[in-house]
Amino acid sequence: MITLKAQAPRLVHLVEDADSAHATETVPAGPPRLHLKNATVDFGNRQWPAVENASLAIGAGEFVALLGPSGCGKSTLLNVFAGFQAPTSGDVLLDGEPLRGPSAKCGVVFQKHSLFPWRSVLENVAFGPRRLGLPNPLGIARDLLDTVGLRDVASAWPSSLSGGMQQRVGIARALATRPPVLLMDEPFGALDAQTRALMQEELLSIWDRLRPTVVFVTHDIEEAIFLADRVVVMQTRPGRIAREFDVPFARPRATGVMDEPAFIELRREISEIIRAEARKSFR
Ligand code: ADP
Ligand code: MG
Repeated sequence: MITLKAQAPRLVHLVEDADSAHATETVPAGPPRLHLKNATVDFGNRQWPAVENASLAIGAGEFVALLGPSGCGKSTLLNVFAGFQAPTSGDVLLDGEPLRGPSAKCGVVFQKHSLFPWRSVLENVAFGPRRLGLPNPLGIARDLLDTVGLRDVASAWPSSLSGGMQQRVGIARALATRPPVLLMDEPFGALDAQTRALMQEELLSIWDRLRPTVVFVTHDIEEAIFLADRVVVMQTRPGRIAREFDVPFARPRATGVMDEPAFIELRREISEIIRAEARKSFR
């Protein structure tokens, strides 16, 4: 069970019982949680595959950012991890087992929220737990709305919320089945800069408490470095994994980390790779 204690309007503290399912999930042991082996995805519509020969092992509880210019295959790769897209060749494993389609172990958040417009915010979040037959789906949904600071709008329609709030509902919905893996495709891409900064901090605080394995797609270098343990930089034509960077900053992270010389240097190094890649698209 999770206990949520609201302290300030949007500040919520979550305490987990030591024997909860999630507490055992966060122990990084055994095979990688997600394992991509020489995966190629070819839609057959270009001279080059969307993703070519990509290999990536992601540990339990790790936060990985997939970064690269538009069209380099980030979404395609995320769809492979989500089981929405089978690789043309190569393998994708979840907890050591070949992935054969979407798994209940993975929660997915898209760039644009994909809420049911005809269900209330609460019912949107309760949908997954209901479908899985979990006990007390409304209780789970209420707890998560607390976690993302949306308790007050539980009975509202999604269309009445701001973009940032809708995206928070999307995150709550993805978390509602307690998936050990969270796959996020530019989830904050449509938000204004301030809301985006708040959402990044909120995501880090949720991740810190629940420790899911996260694959976070973005084309924003600062966002990738600020959030992730590891930044995987992709290149385009064909989409390939170009470089990986371990992010050396301690957690919990505050936005001040972006002013540190090491952050600025890492941003510069990654920026050069991305810029060289982006130039290729104009040739
Ligand atoms: P990114 O998310 O990095 O912007 P995508 O993964 O969406 O890139 O796309 C990579 C390449 O694959 C692009 O050239 C895109 O046009 C192509 N692509 C993506 N999805 C499909 C699809 N379902 N059918 C055909 N081509 C696709
Ligand atoms: Mg994309």
